[in-house]
Amino acid sequence: MEHYDIIIAGGGMAGLSLAFYLSRSPLRSRSILLVDRERKEKNDRTWCYWERGDGPFEAIVYRKWRAIDFYGTSFSGSLDLGDYQYKMLRGIDFYRFMHEELQKLPNLDVRFGEITHLEDLEQGGMVVVGGKPIVAPVVFDSTYRLPQSTPRTHNLLQHFKGWVITTERDCFDPNRPRVMDFRVEQQEDCRFLYVLPFNKRQALVEYTIFNEQVLASEAYEDSLRQYIDRFLEAGSYRIEETEFGIIPMSDVAVSENPSQHIVRIGTSGGYTKPSTGYTFQRTQRYLQELVASMETTNQVPVRKQPGFPKWFKQALDSVLLNVLQNKRHPADDVFTKLFQRNPPERVFRFMDEDTSFLEDLQIVNSMPKGPFAMAVFDLIRQRALHL
Ligand SMILES: Cc1cc2nc3c(=O)[nH]c(=O)nc-3n(C[C@H](O)[C@H](O)[C@H](O)COP(=O)(O)OP(=O)(O)OC[C@H]3O[C@@H](n4cnc5c(N)ncnc54)[C@H](O)[C@@H]3O)c2cc1C
Repeated sequence: MEHYDIIIAGGGMAGLSLAFYLSRSPLRSRSILLVDRERKEKNDRTWCYWERGDGPFEAIVYRKWRAIDFYGTSFSGSLDLGDYQYKMLRGIDFYRFMHEELQKLPNLDVRFGEITHLEDLEQGGMVVVGGKPIVAPVVFDSTYRLPQSTPRTHNLLQHFKGWVITTERDCFDPNRPRVMDFRVEQQEDCRFLYVLPFNKRQALVEYTIFNEQVLASEAYEDSLRQYIDRFLEAGSYRIEETEFGIIPMSDVAVSENPSQHIVRIGTSGGYTKPSTGYTFQRTQRYLQELVASMETTNQVPVRKQPGFPKWFKQALDSVLLNVLQNKRHPADDVFTKLFQRNPPERVFRFMDEDTSFLEDLQIVNSMPKGPFAMAVFDLIRQRALHL
């Protein structure tokens, strides 16, 4: 049986990021195997996230903005992000950058193939690739598919289709991305558009829904066409690229350490923020914690689970999901109140779970009281029933 010190199962965003942080740590001397079924040669997704100052991927950030436009129910306007910048990173740039960086790591092997089996054995975690078993004391797994529809949890999906379009006329302000434009038929869901401009004539326009049911492909495309015709003075336009995604928005408890030698990371590890679907920055943060822990303990890393203030923030995710899933208040108005009644920096800090307890209470106070109280009551009732 082949042996490595570390196996990274899945070389997407989380697997590659982990290899990157390992390459910058004393652990770089360990033998590392990264396995993925794909070579990652397509621009299959675009990551947006917010950050203060420069991050580890600054050199490949495609666009960044200091203000965003928001269109809601009782409020629309431009929001200054203060110390934050909203950043966009193209999948293809990330994959190329990572593969170039990782070539510098002499002890890293990259193998392309299907992992047909992953199991914890006494001597370590085992993956089977091309019929061959490979073992390591620690396997980081980003290939595990999270269960959906677990009873007693909220299981929404964030699903979206986006087009990169080139327009006949100048119609985008390169300094003003639209982040959450709710001026579209809500159909009792949460539906909005992102418009992320590359220049005056090119942008990623993305139709996004939070609900339980993925649509037929044409339904997203009809909505994209209607939005472009109604809200952009584009003239004719050409579709350059398409992206489609489904991100779980669930508060199902995820086991990051399901067994002795296996650590789940990325979406598989439940790193997605349940109430927003944002995963990129949390993954960076959590993986840095894992690498630091492995450096000091030399053990299979276990991420410290949050104590009271963080636990409270995570409970707020469940409250918001409960409001959205049970349609207790129109979602467009919930997000409008959030941005109307709080400075954007506080909202971003809140979504990063970096706010103080007082700021959390200010956020809670900005929400429609009745529906949120009902959601809290419902959650307490459900927990009490299942104690
Ligand atoms: C289109 C799209 C846009 C997104 N945009 C954002 C965004 O703007 N901001 C944000 O924060 N999050 C975003 N997300 C959510 C999240 O950041 C991404 O899904 C991210 O790629 C998750 O990283 P991951 O490593 O967990 O999964 P992935 O990047 O999907 O990596 C998993 C890897 O495992 C491989 N794999 C799976 N099974 C096997 C197997 N059996 N054998 C071998 N290889 C296997 C896959 O090929 C893949 O490369 C987006 C998601 C999508 C789909």
